Amino acid sequence: MATDDQNGSGAATTFDVIVIGAGPVGENVADRTVQGGLSTLIVEKELVGGECSYWACIPSKALLRSGAALRAARAVPGAREAAVGDLDVGAVLARRDSYVSNWSDEGQVKWLSGAGIDLVRGHARITGEREVTVNGTRYSARVAVVVATGSAALLPDIPGLAGASPWTSREATAVASIPESITIIGGGVVAVEIATAYTDLGAQVTLVVRSRVLGGFEEFAGEAVAEALRSRGATIITGASPSGVARDEAGRVTVTLEDGRTLESEELLVATGRVPRTEDLGLEVAGLEPGGWIDVDDTMLVRGSDWLYAAGDVNHRALLTHQGKYQARAAGDAIAARAAGRQLDDAPWGTHVATADHAAVPQLVYSDPEVAAVGLTSTAAEKQGVRVRSVDVPIGNVSGASLHAEGYEGTARMLVDEDRGVVVGFTMVGPDVGELLHAATIAVVGEVQVSRLWHAVPSFPTMSELWLRLLEGYGRPE
Ligand SMILES: Cc1cc2nc3c(=O)[nH]c(=O)nc-3n(C[C@H](O)[C@H](O)[C@H](O)COP(=O)(O)OP(=O)(O)OC[C@H]3O[C@@H](n4cnc5c(N)ncnc54)[C@H](O)[C@@H]3O)c2cc1C
Repeated sequence: MATDDQNGSGAATTFDVIVIGAGPVGENVADRTVQGGLSTLIVEKELVGGECSYWACIPSKALLRSGAALRAARAVPGAREAAVGDLDVGAVLARRDSYVSNWSDEGQVKWLSGAGIDLVRGHARITGEREVTVNGTRYSARVAVVVATGSAALLPDIPGLAGASPWTSREATAVASIPESITIIGGGVVAVEIATAYTDLGAQVTLVVRSRVLGGFEEFAGEAVAEALRSRGATIITGASPSGVARDEAGRVTVTLEDGRTLESEELLVATGRVPRTEDLGLEVAGLEPGGWIDVDDTMLVRGSDWLYAAGDVNHRALLTHQGKYQARAAGDAIAARAAGRQLDDAPWGTHVATADHAAVPQLVYSDPEVAAVGLTSTAAEKQGVRVRSVDVPIGNVSGASLHAEGYEGTARMLVDEDRGVVVGFTMVGPDVGELLHAATIAVVGEVQVSRLWHAVPSFPTMSELWLRLLEGYGRPE
């Protein structure tokens, strides 16, 4: 429980821990510190649940799911004949609305209260060591302040862009009616997922990509996704950058590319990356640069501080909800252990450190086909000087896959560290590969010897038999 020290003399209200930002990460830090016996205040300036619940993961996946379900049915004779007609766009948008609770955070506020976490609404600023001010009221933290303020869309400096009312992922995921056409600047995960959803929902989509589609993933994955988007009517222009943007009086947007080409559409989405929400946070009080990403150690303690932590998107370690929540569990437990004077378990893979951020971040792109990856890509292995052997298999050769969908097409790549004999990277592209990702994550995190993986027998006839094909490709130890 929080202790109220307010005595009319201007003294701050005191808690053990103050968390700034009630996104998925802030909520999880607070949950762990309360479970560790520490009174905890969380401060939120918009909706409890954060970006993920209302303008990112949840609404984007809700917009994507109906198209994916229809495609899955159409890939199986017998079901295909029953899956006639187009998507009901109104029903898709209504389902999205229900998943974001019509942008009401009532349910999440109830959860906070049930978890014993105090909530204050408003913009928090750090105003002193272990002190946060919200709406003119000062709060002090006996133990720690945790910054979990997340990230916002980056708007690049393109002439005319700011005045052309561009969409960010917020407008694209909260859309009330699908535009007839949309230009998307960017080729990363957000751009690709919105392009997939919007082509399903009937928009004419054009992607403008500086280098290649899904540049951070194995090249074969990006190529498969780009080819599928093209085959469904999207235009993808790679190796291109916009030099100007304008919206005319009729409301249409024109994007001019550096080579002089022009693209016209009803809406424009900018999906070119993220910036940290640290601009107006009082970080200078802690000797940090406002507007920058926050550098932390593996317990999420800000380097050089003994009271300030930063978890989730804002520390730039891995901009994903599940990874931020993992950091939150480590940080919350580390704060509680330090407060109780207990020894930290902070060697690599210990309770109080987020070691997986460095070696085993799972990521799923909900495109069609899906892309699922964990650990290193071939390029990252080369850059890090890890001596890997790469094995590729066509997933369609696995009987479970051909039963799953007629003419299944996909590829899986396993990277084995040749010096240690363990899997260090795994990438799959193909319909419904997402649910296969956790097995790969366990292999990478567990540093399971390839020789032992031969004893992890996949059930017949599942898609997981791709592991057998990969092991056969790698070769059985003598
Ligand atoms: C379109 C899109 C789709 C995505 N899909 C997925 C997905 O499928 N899976 C996945 O794992 N990740 C996904 N992500 C990434 C995911 O949304 C983020 O990694 C996640 O939201 C980060 O959580 P967070 O708690 O760090 O920050 P946020 O969710 O951004 O929450 C931060 C909170 O802090 C509050 N805040 C900020 N400053 C202050 C202040 N000064 N005072 C008080 N409150 C403040 C904000 O209002 C916000 O509520 C997606 C991102 C986008 C853009």
